[in-house]
Amino acid sequence: MTPAASGSWLGVLGGGQLGRMFCQSAQALGYHVVVLDPAQSSPAGGVADRHLRAAYDDPRALDEIGRLCVAVTTEFENVPADSLRHLARHCLTTPSGDAVAVAQDRLAEKAYLRASGVPVADHAAVHQASDLDACAQTLFPGILKTARFGYDGKGQARVADRAQALQAFEAMRGVPCILEALQPLDTEISVVVARGLDGRAVSYPPARNTHRDGILALSVVDGTIPAPIADQARDHALRIADHLDYHGVLCVEFFVLRDGRVIANEMAPRPHNSGHHTQDSCLVSQFEQQARVMARLPLGSADMLCPAAMLNLLGDLWFDARGAHREPDWAGVLAVPGTRLHLYAKSEARRGRKMGHVNILGRDAAELHARIARVAAVLGLPDA
Ligand code: ATP
Ligand code: MG
Repeated sequence: MTPAASGSWLGVLGGGQLGRMFCQSAQALGYHVVVLDPAQSSPAGGVADRHLRAAYDDPRALDEIGRLCVAVTTEFENVPADSLRHLARHCLTTPSGDAVAVAQDRLAEKAYLRASGVPVADHAAVHQASDLDACAQTLFPGILKTARFGYDGKGQARVADRAQALQAFEAMRGVPCILEALQPLDTEISVVVARGLDGRAVSYPPARNTHRDGILALSVVDGTIPAPIADQARDHALRIADHLDYHGVLCVEFFVLRDGRVIANEMAPRPHNSGHHTQDSCLVSQFEQQARVMARLPLGSADMLCPAAMLNLLGDLWFDARGAHREPDWAGVLAVPGTRLHLYAKSEARRGRKMGHVNILGRDAAELHARIARVAAVLGLPDA
């Protein structure tokens, strides 16, 4: 494998914050980055060496990027899988269109996870109302989710029984759905894996994730996940990446159940919000791993240098109690030792919109948690 020469071009489909952080890592390695995004301005477009403004399925734009780049990736999972397949005619495409297609459809995804030998929640496909009549009673209470295009908890409904499931299915206008049995959750954890073209892979230690209003609020890697659970999750994630013959960075979200079992929930075929701490807590971040795979460079270490956390900064922080616009107290945040601020340069703060994150490091778990509490207090967030 000959590595891409410095100054070569890498491409990314999507102009969001993940694309932005990917650009920054790839540029630090000496590569040029081109972003394909239809928007006039975007977080990634603002830092890329080139921004190609076109639709994600525009064949001329795809041909142009494919000819320019040695490798192309995506920063969002709802990219048309066919665009990646199209690009694969010109250059290395990581992940492949096929891998992305699996992650885009919860039904295909669950089948895939199971086929990799990794347990998942009991579930059933719901394509029409009569499928709900045929569902096992053990799927209630459950969660009905649209099979495609769900994120941040959108496109799902908790249902106590069959009648509620029918109502929810009709409210979703009959699009294909999956009904999952509601799991008795102890914690939610996630593992980011990077897998190279030669099949070698590394996994970061699992992060423990807390959501607020369906959106990831905090990811913590403080070394307190019991080893058997952490090892199981890492094994599962590596196994899934192997089974897909996956190239690039992949995140698998897991549920840890009250009885200690670890089951897979879903996967994201890209760097993940819960892996942002690796920018500051590891020698090589998840974004740099992605760039290294694309450039045919060796993977870097996924070891943590110290306990760390990632606190998401949502647009809500830009509004005071009366709804007036304000700038959050960054000086106060950065006065807390061990903090690093990452803002995405989005044009407008809106409630629920991911505007940035703070990475927080500590020498041990106690120091980390004390610092998380201090940062949360400065920002006026409920204690994490
Ligand atoms: P995100 O974009 O944040 O990853 P999503 O919209 O893709 O979310 P899921 O991750 O499947 O959807 O579900 C969102 C949250 O709902 C989970 O993090 C978990 O808290 C809860 N949840 C989902 N499925 C189940 C389940 N089967 N049992 C219990 N809780 C669940
Ligand atoms: Mg999820």
